[in-house]
Amino acid sequence: MNRQFDFLMPSVNFFGPGVIAKIGDRAKMLNMHKPLIVTTEGLSKIDNGPVQQTTAALEKAGVDYAVFTGVEPNPKIRNVQAGKKMYQDENCDSIITVGGGSAHDCGKGIGIVLTNGDDISKLAGIETLKNPLPPLMAVNTTAGTGSELTRHAVITNEKTHLKFVVVSWRNIPLVSFNDPMLMLDIPKDITAATGCDAFVQAIEPYVSVDHNPITDSQCKEAIQLIQTALPEVVANGHNIEARTKMVEAEMLAGMAFNNANLGYVHAMAHQLGGQYDAPHGVCCALLLTTVEEYNLIACPERFAKLAKVMGFDTTGLTLYEAAQKSIDGMREMCRLVGIPSSIKEIGAKPEDFEMMAKNALKDGNAFSNPRKGTVEDIVKLYQKAYDGI
Ligand code: NAD
Repeated sequence: MNRQFDFLMPSVNFFGPGVIAKIGDRAKMLNMHKPLIVTTEGLSKIDNGPVQQTTAALEKAGVDYAVFTGVEPNPKIRNVQAGKKMYQDENCDSIITVGGGSAHDCGKGIGIVLTNGDDISKLAGIETLKNPLPPLMAVNTTAGTGSELTRHAVITNEKTHLKFVVVSWRNIPLVSFNDPMLMLDIPKDITAATGCDAFVQAIEPYVSVDHNPITDSQCKEAIQLIQTALPEVVANGHNIEARTKMVEAEMLAGMAFNNANLGYVHAMAHQLGGQYDAPHGVCCALLLTTVEEYNLIACPERFAKLAKVMGFDTTGLTLYEAAQKSIDGMREMCRLVGIPSSIKEIGAKPEDFEMMAKNALKDGNAFSNPRKGTVEDIVKLYQKAYDGI
């Protein structure tokens, strides 16, 4: 490969069972005097759950805090604004996000509007942030989006029903915590959806036009970990070893797409999430096989390699037969963990497809997709995902 690339790594990540206990000392090290904890109402109510373990560790270290529980799934601009108000009213000086991608993205959004201007929708795009965010730490509780270590903040404009992404290295949390013990009680459907998101985030960078040798190895490892661990955690959420493998995998996938970017699955899934407020991981999984089957002719060698990574014996097969095996592997994973078979089931309507297709092609993730499509192509892909995978 004869080209240049830059490579972003997360700053510090605490990984493994029990690491959440270290957050108080780390807050002190970062001179956080009063962080705003940004989370969901549901998580804040779990007895000895992720929020309570975070606040206990902060109290032990003598660090004051305020708790904002106004994060909705697919976080909205109104959540960002409400969080900003609380940050100011409570005289906070830093942010700690506790949750999955929604909490992290909302916390990043709050940091963005505090230091870069009030209208976050105007900051959509790549490297639009001129000023650093307040100190930000992320306690991750799903495996998952990778948002605890990525440069992306995905926010939904509740008026237009469009998801937009603010992509900047300034968004990367200073410290993140990935403690699998905080993930043992994630409900089955959320475990499956978030795990499929990690799976898609390992596949899209592998076939992305921006892939590089480092992201390739991260994707391969992540895919193999997910293939064994995801069905196991869906079957038994308290399997600590499998939960730990899923965390490893989501981190690897997060680092990979932070650098190699994604593709049409995410570009199109953002439209489904924005229009129908459906869970992000489900939207991605519902589109995965349809989009990758479409992409296959753009880089059949990559898909054939992917089939080998997934454990298929491709000896004696033609290039396209081998490539097709990888699609079988994707379909099998989604089926095993109980993903529905059509975007109908999340409320998708054919009359919206053209509008969503136009917006998908403008989404930042579309530019790294290996095959270049037209609006008509994307409409057909939505229709195919509607007719059933
Ligand atoms: P989420 O954060 O929306 O969480 C889903 C639900 O699970 C919530 O109700 C939450 O309260 C609950 N939950 C979370 N952790 C739990 C736990 N440990 N136990 C019990 N319940 C728990 O889901 P997500 O999939 O992690 O995040 C999706 C969002 O992230 C979407 O908005 C998506 O667009 C965005 N995203 C961001 C990036 C990025 O890099 N910034 C990447 C991919 C997706």
